Amino acid sequence: VTDLEELRDRMQRFTTERDWERFHDPKSLVLALVGEVGELSELLQWLPADQVVDLANSEPLRSRLGEELADVLLYLLRLADVLNIHLGDAARQKMLRSEERFPADQVRSVAPLKFEPYT
Ligand SMILES: [Mg+2]
Repeated sequence: VTDLEELRDRMQRFTTERDWERFHDPKSLVLALVGEVGELSELLQWLPADQVVDLANSEPLRSRLGEELADVLLYLLRLADVLNIHLGDAARQKMLRSEERFPADQVRSVAPLKFEPYT
């Protein structure tokens, strides 16, 4: 069992034990996910871009970023589970496609926006 599968199953158990499946339709989960991405964005929005990595290495920002990233991951896992999509497999397939599409020796140091839209 991978870390992702363990977290997926734990989210499933958390939901079932509270009788919250009725609220976890895909639309509601997407909105919850977007809400958490918003909370993550809020932590970074006015920080100078060239200082974010340094600032993120110190408290309290470090802990807050960890919390919001975790919220995003957990809702993403729950959404995939409700849609019967194995997120680990889907991500591995996507990585494989990206590795084939963007051979390192051909695209090194070239910004992705110079390529056709990435889907
Ligand atoms: Mg949150």
